[in-house]
Amino acid sequence: MKQKLSRHAALKFQYKFDCICEACCDNWPTYLSLRPGKIPSVLRYRSSDLIGPETIERLQKGDKMFAYKQFKPLCELAEDLEPYAPCKELADCQEALKQCLAILEGTVPYGYSQVVEWKAIPPKV
Ligand SMILES: [Zn+2]
Repeated sequence: MKQKLSRHAALKFQYKFDCICEACCDNWPTYLSLRPGKIPSVLRYRSSDLIGPETIERLQKGDKMFAYKQFKPLCELAEDLEPYAPCKELADCQEALKQCLAILEGTVPYGYSQVVEWKAIPPKV
């Protein structure tokens, strides 16, 4: 309960709204207290392969080609891990995706076959 109150208070302070997302309402653990999920072994294998130390290291170095290559498999892994949320594997996968997007900065594979220049898309009014 204390975790839920502090999460709500932190979000309220930072973003000025009362969050009613699934994680807040169901009091999901925050990242540092997340544990490995009870996921099928095939997903565990893909997770350790895709979001292992080498991936983190290369993304932290800003390897653009690596980020481009990993983006699609990471998206697919995130979708496959979603039913097992909350779990550390999904959080790590989402973090790797965030790093990919930061590295690609406007250029991401869209629909897995087409490159979209985000900056070229006019903002929705
Ligand atoms: Zn929330």
